[in-house]
Amino acid sequence: TVIEKNSTPSPIKETANKDIDAVLQKQKSFFATGKTRPLQAREDALRKLRTLISDNEQAILQALMKDLNKSEAEAYITEIAVLKEEIKFILKNLHNWAKPKKVKTALTHIGTKGIQIPEPYGVSLIIAPWNYPFQLALSPLLGAIAAGNTAILKPSELTPTVAALLSKIINEHFDPGYIHVIEGGVETNQYLLKQRFDYIFFTGSVPVGKIVMEAAAKNLTPLTLELGGKSPCIVHEDADISLAAKRIAFGKVTNAGQTCIAPDYLFVHKKVKDAFIQAYKQAITEFYGDEPIKNETYGKIVNQRHFDRVSSYLSDGDIIVGGKVDEALHKIEPTILVPKSLEVPVMQEEIFGPIMPMIEYENLEEVVAFVNSRPKPLALYLFSNEKKVQKKINTEISYGGGCINDTLLHVATPYLPFGGVGESGLGSYHGESSFKTFSHYKSVLKQTTKFDFSFRYPNAKYGLKII
Ligand code: NAD
Repeated sequence: TVIEKNSTPSPIKETANKDIDAVLQKQKSFFATGKTRPLQAREDALRKLRTLISDNEQAILQALMKDLNKSEAEAYITEIAVLKEEIKFILKNLHNWAKPKKVKTALTHIGTKGIQIPEPYGVSLIIAPWNYPFQLALSPLLGAIAAGNTAILKPSELTPTVAALLSKIINEHFDPGYIHVIEGGVETNQYLLKQRFDYIFFTGSVPVGKIVMEAAAKNLTPLTLELGGKSPCIVHEDADISLAAKRIAFGKVTNAGQTCIAPDYLFVHKKVKDAFIQAYKQAITEFYGDEPIKNETYGKIVNQRHFDRVSSYLSDGDIIVGGKVDEALHKIEPTILVPKSLEVPVMQEEIFGPIMPMIEYENLEEVVAFVNSRPKPLALYLFSNEKKVQKKINTEISYGGGCINDTLLHVATPYLPFGGVGESGLGSYHGESSFKTFSHYKSVLKQTTKFDFSFRYPNAKYGLKII
C-alpha cells in the first residue's frame, strides 16, 4: 500500500446543530426500546466492531500516517492491537461482570437479601483527543457498549483523516440510534455539551476538562475525565541505568512524546546522571540512528501550532542531548535539557513532545516535596529496585498510576484500571473498570414476607410475627 506522508490534512467537517439534535433523539428512542441491553446484542456489537477494525486496518494505518506520521508498527500496536485485546478480554468476561451480584446482609436485616444490579446509564457522549485518535475514541466506546449504552462519539478535529474514517466505519455500519460519530471542532463540541446526556466520557486537556465538567454539572450528568499534566520520572542511584534509559526513551519517543502518560520530566540521582545521559543517547541512536528526524519511522508533531509550542521549550535550558528540529516536517529530535530554573515554561506546562527536562537530586525528600507541590500527576515512573524507595514514593506521592522500572505499560493491561487523580482526571477505565464506569449499580434489598419484626413500627408491640 502506498501511504501518503505529511500531506496537509483536509479541513474538518462540522456537523449542523439540527443533525446533532436528530441523532440525539434517535439515540434516546433506541435506548428506550431496550435493544442495547441483552448480552447477546452487546457481544454482537463488540464482535462487529472487531471485524470492522480488522477489515479497515490498512485505511486506519494510512489515516494515522497522514495525520501524525505514525509508523505502521507503532500505529498497529498502540491504536489497533490494544483495541482487539480489549475486545477479547471484554467478550471473555462480560457475562460475569453483567450478572447481578449478591452482597452480604447485616445482622440487623435478617430475612433480607442484598443485590447489586448493573444497568446502563443510557445515552453516552464520548469526546476524544488527537494523540491516539483512533484508539482513544473507540476504547471508551467498548465500555459503553459492554455496559449496554448508546454512544455518540466526537473525535478530534486536529486529526481529520482519522475522524472521517471513524465516521465512515461506524456510521455506515451501525444504527445511528445506537452508535454514531459526529465530526466537528470546538463549536460542535460546545453544542453537544449543551445537550442532556446520561454519561459523558472525556479524554483531553485539563482546561477543556474543566469546561466539560462545568457543562455536565448543569444537568448533573455523571462523567469520567481522562486528562493530562506533567508526569514525573525518577531514576534512583541503584537503578539499572542502561535499561532505565532505554525504557524512558521509549516512553518519551513513542508518538514523538505526544502521549498523555509520557514521562514529562526527569529526576535523576546525581551519582548516575552522567551514565544516564550516555545511555539515553545510545538508546536514541539504537532506535532511530544518528539523525532521528530523518528517520521515517520517527513521529511528527501534530501541527504548526504545537510544533511552535514544543520547539519553544528548547530555549528553556541547556541542551545536553538532541535539540535539532525540522520545521517543514514538524519533527523535533529526542532531547534532554537542563532547565534554567523550575519556573521556565518547560517545567510548568505539559510538554507533549520529545523534550525531556532533567533535574539532578541527591535526596529523595526533595523529589517528593517537588512533586507534591504540583498538581497530582496522571503517571509516575520510578526506576529503583530498592523496596524502601518504592514504598516511600508510593506512600508519599499521589498519582493516577504508573510503573516501577518501566514506562507506559500500565496503560495497556486490562487488569489495571487506568485514570488520573486530582487535576489529572476523575474516574478510570479499561477492562472491568470500563464496564463499571458506564454502569450504574442499582442497590436492591429484597425482604422476606415470611416473618416480620414489629418493633420498627410506631406504637409497636415488641416481637416477631411469623406470617
Ligand atoms: P483538548 O482538550 O484540546 O481536546 C479534546 C477534545 O475537546 C477535542 O475533541 C476537541 O474538539 C474538544 N475541545 C477542544 N477545545 C474545546 C473547547 N474550548 N470547548 C469544548 N470542547 C473543546 O485535548 P487534545 O489537545 O486533543 O489532547 C491532548 C491532551 O489530552 C493532553 O493534555 C493529554 O495529556 C490529554 N490526554 C489524556 C489522556 C488520558 O487518557 N488521560 C489520553 C490522551 C490525551
